[in-house]
Amino acid sequence: MMELREDYVRIQNTILANRIFYEGIDQFSYSDDSFADSDMVNELQSMASQIEGRIILLGSNFEVVSDTYERNVNQYIITEDTLKAMRGEKVSAKKVGNSYLQVTTGIYDKDTDQSRGVIITLASLKERESLLKDISDRLFLIDGLFLLVSVVLGILLALFSRHCFHDVRTEMNVIAEGHQENRLSEEGFQEFYQMAVAFNKITDRFKELENSRQEFVSNVSHELKTPITSMKILADSLLMQEDVPVEIYEEFMEDIVHEIDRENQIITDLLDLVRMDKASGDLNISSANINELLEQLLKRITPIAEKRNITIHLETMRQVTAEVDVGKLSLACNNIIENAVKYNHNGGNVNVYLNADHKFFYIRVRDDGVGIPEDCQERIFERFYRVDKARSRETGGTGLGLAISRKVVLLHKGSIRVHSKEGEGTTFIIRIPLNYIG
Ligand code: ADP
Repeated sequence: MMELREDYVRIQNTILANRIFYEGIDQFSYSDDSFADSDMVNELQSMASQIEGRIILLGSNFEVVSDTYERNVNQYIITEDTLKAMRGEKVSAKKVGNSYLQVTTGIYDKDTDQSRGVIITLASLKERESLLKDISDRLFLIDGLFLLVSVVLGILLALFSRHCFHDVRTEMNVIAEGHQENRLSEEGFQEFYQMAVAFNKITDRFKELENSRQEFVSNVSHELKTPITSMKILADSLLMQEDVPVEIYEEFMEDIVHEIDRENQIITDLLDLVRMDKASGDLNISSANINELLEQLLKRITPIAEKRNITIHLETMRQVTAEVDVGKLSLACNNIIENAVKYNHNGGNVNVYLNADHKFFYIRVRDDGVGIPEDCQERIFERFYRVDKARSRETGGTGLGLAISRKVVLLHKGSIRVHSKEGEGTTFIIRIPLNYIG
């Protein structure tokens, strides 16, 4: 708007300057001088009223010849702007206060390179002011409307969220009361959806844990009951017969002792496992020579293996010292080496291999026994899982050995893998960090 106003005033000044140039500046004079042409003065007045402002004409000596406000006549206005205009230079427009724009134009004769005077025009900016006021009034109104809409939307959103939270809370309370089969409805806003999905994951996990706990309890009860049932049958049949020969009596008693040992073994294994379910802080870490640990184990297992003509080879690539819980690691290795003997053919071979790099040590136990079917390999580390129940029972297995071994390895932040082919043999590989990572 300012630019438009300036252009308009400049054009008007140029036209006026031309008129003055041809008519002579005296025609526009306000003084009582007889040269003044009242038409020209009126024209100047109407031009000034058109721009709602004031027009001042200076003669070539900077004296005010004409002023539509009739104030400064016969005074001299010598300013930087009037000097510039008089020299024929362009003077940039200026704002005077908030309401006027001053445009100074020289009445310059290019041919003679002389100035005949200067026009100073003060154009009103009231229109701009009123437009600005109008805009600011409207903005205020728009602001108000926005505020109102925001408040209304805010209230609606709060009410809606409250409603959603109420629904979620009700559903959660139902689940908390024990109805774990229920799920939060996965709908609504993104946040509610994500929260519901996360919550449902937790309840699913909880259900899984609950199922595995129930399965574990029923497995334990079953496993503990089996030897007791056998003992009862054995004892009952002894009681029911009269004059039982001593040999039968001794044989039955041997079977009963065997079942008691079995019961004992299950309870020992279970206690080991439960103890290890606690935090890993229970590990009793010390620096140990793994070669010696394996030698000790083989010393105990070899006589059992020899009974079935099974040969155990120990192959150690280097001396390995590592930070481990000796008791628990012995238990883990013992289970795996014992299995390699248990699930082997008479006259078979077991190879125990030890190696290490700068970070881990590796124990590999390989046998050429019965092997594990492909589809069972995933499950052998589960508690009470046995591929061949009869064989496992025969050999005194509880189905807990590998679960214990795996737990021990995991507590040491290691890993355990199995490779096996049915009928050809099985290899277990344990990898454990040399330095315990707490
Ligand atoms: P168990 O007390 O029955 O030996 P484990 O947890 O030690 O229980 O092993 C689980 C099952 O994995 C065993 O019942 C057996 O079927 C299978 N298994 C473990 N080690 C071997 C192996 N070296 N060769 C063949 N089968 C094995």
